[in-house]
Amino acid sequence: MGSAQALPLPTSEIVSKNPATGEVLGHVPVQGEGEVRAAVARARAAQAGWGRLPVAERARRVMGFRDELLTRAEEVIDLIVREGGKTRQEALGMEMVVVVDLATYFAKRAAKILAPRPISLHLLKTKRSYLHYVPRGVVGIISPWNFPFSIPMGETIMALLAGNAVVLKPSEITPLVALKAKELHDASGMPPDLFQVVTGRGATGAAVIDAGVDQVIFTGSVATGRKVAAACGERLIPCTVELGGKAPAVVCADADLERTANALLWGAFGNSGQVCCSVERVYAHEAVYDELVQKLADKARKLRQGDPSAPGREGEVDIGAMTWDQQLAVVEERVKSALAAGARVLVGGRRKDGPGMFFEPTILVDCRQDMDVMRKEIFGPVMPIMKVRSEDEAIQLANDSHLGLLGYVFTRDRGKGTRIAERIEAGTVMVNDVLATYGAPETPWIGVKQSGLGFTHSDDGLRDLCQKRHVNVDRFAPRRELWWYPYSDKTYRLMLKAVRFLFRARSRPRA
Ligand code: NAD
Repeated sequence: MGSAQALPLPTSEIVSKNPATGEVLGHVPVQGEGEVRAAVARARAAQAGWGRLPVAERARRVMGFRDELLTRAEEVIDLIVREGGKTRQEALGMEMVVVVDLATYFAKRAAKILAPRPISLHLLKTKRSYLHYVPRGVVGIISPWNFPFSIPMGETIMALLAGNAVVLKPSEITPLVALKAKELHDASGMPPDLFQVVTGRGATGAAVIDAGVDQVIFTGSVATGRKVAAACGERLIPCTVELGGKAPAVVCADADLERTANALLWGAFGNSGQVCCSVERVYAHEAVYDELVQKLADKARKLRQGDPSAPGREGEVDIGAMTWDQQLAVVEERVKSALAAGARVLVGGRRKDGPGMFFEPTILVDCRQDMDVMRKEIFGPVMPIMKVRSEDEAIQLANDSHLGLLGYVFTRDRGKGTRIAERIEAGTVMVNDVLATYGAPETPWIGVKQSGLGFTHSDDGLRDLCQKRHVNVDRFAPRRELWWYPYSDKTYRLMLKAVRFLFRARSRPRA
């Protein structure tokens, strides 16, 4: 665990297990306040030199880290599969590819994105303004277990490129993946202290915020996000909180049902539904409801679920294990309460017998908007479906939620698709596709309503990892500006005249 291992003995430890088999994979310490403070201090010391490097040099070195990830990709993928329970294809496509592409995208463009930006001054023509971007210092990243590699490492790479050091507190459910990333970071020749990993539970995350970091990027539940935002507010440090989702899918009467069914299945069951932007509820137009449901059921029954870490079975598993026993219990509860309220199981519906934590890919019909399964995050492989009479009704139901991370629309008419997309209250709405924009680093990852504050990814996301500072320089230097001392009646009259002339001369905004 690199430099963090030299810290004082931990008070307790976390046991990491393979959720598909129960096999113990390793133990990590629960690190306390003192250890976290020490990690932040080491990171701060390393940042001083790193932050002074030209962006192009930082980018060159981050590319070295990316190359190390590519070279040792299978070692990382193995661990993601064993610790998280997802399939190898998901570990490759949803975790590794996302990080190496993000690193490549931003390493190539960081110098341009972070270059000073002139601001054209509309009135103060005798002056020149520009923004420049200064690393914030030490960024604290607190992350969840569902994407133990792509979420923290995408954020880490962006923060490093922006000239910061990073202290990462990974989820207690999947700490080994973060420690593996740290091992590869150090092996790649990056300054080892620049990226610290501290392990532990919630208290260790809280200690990161308390230890004097300069910015916090948190990804996790709404309940914890509220605490994190409050703690950052107390300390007046900027924070981004990326929180839960309840993504609706609106299926229009003219949707391509084959593509729609394939997309919905992957969107609801990929990573066992443990995705913040999973398809969590489907509103299907009555004109296509029966055919869509039939297709979904036929396809869902063919999905193969099993232990993705079993040697030789890599290509044979579509759906792996759930990662966390407590999340599995939530999923069981959501399905149970939906059935008690009148929903019907079309496919799946139960936990699989055996030692692993598997929940069958499940399709629920006869759902109603007042059911928990339609209102609260499921975060498991469950797709509840409702029949609607019109697209307007679907949009109204889609917006009837306290969350707004992603939304999806399916239609053959792209014009209509974008019109509906713009009416859905979500940070991102995709037309005829699901999940994929997390892998597009140039687009913002952003939640509205209780799905979050701030955003990650995108060129602005990189700039947001810096202090934005403004410099204003005079172009001509008269002995005194008109509005300086001494005030006089003459100057007042002159200014009034000038104001009337200037503002009347300016046309009103065109309608
Ligand atoms: P969680 O909120 O339980 O934990 C997230 C992290 O916060 C963990 O590392 C945890 O140890 C830490 N933590 C807990 N209490 C803390 C405190 N008081 N102060 C600081 N840190 C604390 O969430 P989870 O169960 O790991 O993740 C699942 C949730 O994350 C789901 O709701 C999911 O939708 C959401 N999520 C959102 C996004 C997004 O981009 N919006 C992405 C992935 C997951």
